[in-house]
Amino acid sequence: MKELEERIRQEGAILSETVLKVDAFLNHQVDTELALATGREFARAFAGEKITKVLTIEASGIQFAMAAGIALQVPFVYAKKKKAVTQSGSVYSAPVHSFTRGETYQVTVDQRYLGPGDKVLIVDDFLATGAALIGLVDIVRESGAELIGVGAVIEKSFQEGRGLLEAKNVRVHSLARIESMKPGEVHFTQDHNESSHRVKEKV
Ligand code: 5GP
Repeated sequence: MKELEERIRQEGAILSETVLKVDAFLNHQVDTELALATGREFARAFAGEKITKVLTIEASGIQFAMAAGIALQVPFVYAKKKKAVTQSGSVYSAPVHSFTRGETYQVTVDQRYLGPGDKVLIVDDFLATGAALIGLVDIVRESGAELIGVGAVIEKSFQEGRGLLEAKNVRVHSLARIESMKPGEVHFTQDHNESSHRVKEKV
């Protein structure tokens, strides 16, 4: 998605060779038009699959799952990281280790909102080590729903997530695929023949 790549080049802050900060437009302050456009892209990529539900994990996946749900005209569900007092019924759950926070959460989805008969698209902001998305894949499989695929807004292709998902026979579609990065520089996978793109230095 060209527009997304352009925003990453212009407004992304590369904190290290593995961490990209996109707080200015994706996951702290959110550019609502761009978020809605990601939803349309996911709907286009998975058109014809008769998706009935979009699944994500709180918090940074929510705006993209909502956008995909709007584009596909289906509900979205987000897995919770902490059990709320209002959560009473049976849940599906899976452990997820957070790449950015260094903690492991037991994520849960109420069994009323996912089950056999559903065709599920999983969406998240980043695909990095794949831990978050694999946790959601396990939840979908536990529920008896059919997994149609995974959509990531940004994939860091140099990390192992895509390979781990594909080894589980999961179709992965990412809107921006970063081949490599370091402060001041980002390369997208389709940019093999291009020189480095300059991005804003660490903030
Ligand atoms: P994974 O489980 O694939 O390692 O990472 C998934 C989660 O970690 C994403 O949902 C995202 O919130 C966070 N994450 C992973 N890498 C990055 C990164 O480079 N920048 C930011 N802002 N978040 C990241």
